[in-house]
Amino acid sequence: MKNSGRAAPIRLSDRFDGPKGVDGIAIDRPSTWQKYHSGDCKGCWGGCCTLPVEVSAFDLMRLGVATEDEAASSQKKLAKRLIKEGVLQRYHPTTGLFVLEQRGRDCIYLGKDRLCTVYEKRPEVCRQFPKIGPRPGFCPKQRK
Ligand code: SF4
Ligand code: SF4
Repeated sequence: MKNSGRAAPIRLSDRFDGPKGVDGIAIDRPSTWQKYHSGDCKGCWGGCCTLPVEVSAFDLMRLGVATEDEAASSQKKLAKRLIKEGVLQRYHPTTGLFVLEQRGRDCIYLGKDRLCTVYEKRPEVCRQFPKIGPRPGFCPKQRK
């Protein structure tokens, strides 16, 4: 995900096409995604940052929104606090993964310039996308 900013969502929900739904790209349909090449993130609208992002407790610590003590004690309690603070939208007790909150359709950490505002601290899944994701090696790239 976006150099200067983007990362890797791993789950999809019902959503819209990109900025103008151009190029036949539909973010919720990985079959329409294009092959990713190094450098593609430059000038991209960052559709990958509109996909729900699942993160670990370690990711939350790296983001600076959770302490080591919190992560080591009750993840349910941690989730409750971060949901209340608008950082998370939900928690999956069975997998131990949290889902970042979204602002409208965007990740809360996506800036107005459509670059990640926490790039150095971004979650692991963001670092790995699109190597991993709904369609490995492909992404919903579209120009801004
Ligand atoms: S943290 Fe959010 S804005 Fe940053 S790369 Fe991940 S999905 Fe994109
Ligand atoms: S959709 Fe693809 S090209 Fe665009 S920012 Fe995300 S990973 Fe980069």
